[in-house]
Amino acid sequence: MTFDSLNLIEPILRSIKTEGYTTPTPIQEQAIPIVLEGKDLLGCAQTGTGKTAAFAIPILQLLVQRQTHATRREKRTIKALILTPTRELAIQIGESFAAYGRHTGLKHTVIFGGVKQLRQTDSLQNGVDILIATPGRLIDLMAQRFVSLKHLEIFVLDEADRMLDMGFVHDVRRIIAVIPPQRQSLFFSATMPPEIVKLADTILVKPEKVEV
Ligand code: AMP
Repeated sequence: MTFDSLNLIEPILRSIKTEGYTTPTPIQEQAIPIVLEGKDLLGCAQTGTGKTAAFAIPILQLLVQRQTHATRREKRTIKALILTPTRELAIQIGESFAAYGRHTGLKHTVIFGGVKQLRQTDSLQNGVDILIATPGRLIDLMAQRFVSLKHLEIFVLDEADRMLDMGFVHDVRRIIAVIPPQRQSLFFSATMPPEIVKLADTILVKPEKVEV
């Protein structure tokens, strides 16, 4: 199995080659086709498995393929949201989108708490296609109207079990309540205890399951 057999578009294949990757990891091999088909995904995978690229690569591809002449000229709207529990993970995910998306023309930004919000709100106001966020700062910036999720098409909940352990479940539910119900959702967790299964059930519609 190589990345060439995953039906990826040239600008993304080129950036994967620049990163030096030739073979997809098991989670990438399984998840990329499911996400490209527009289906919901329940992924049981830990950090270190290549999970980030497993969602970043197909999300970038879907957004490139949905661009039209008209949308390229309009102000950017947030079409994909990745929620992750920590600042470190948010930054790493941002680096992955930067790496795989470098030839796509899509823009992303990363927001997290514990720092002044000005640089984050500036980049949001310039317009982004993809937002990577920790829950608290996202709710804060939504309340201040710096973030609108009304054009959201793809929602990713990353490290769901850690979200719960860190006490973010209430914030996550508040965010889910305000995103468009007509969307594609991807849910990743290293473990699947009953509360996680319950949370996944409230977010996903007929998900394909992937376990590595
Ligand atoms: P993640 O599980 O997303 O945190 O990724 C773990 C590490 O694997 C990261 O440092 C990636 O750069 C690297 N990685 C991701 N995909 C591949 C791949 N297909 N081949 C080799 N390394 C990869």
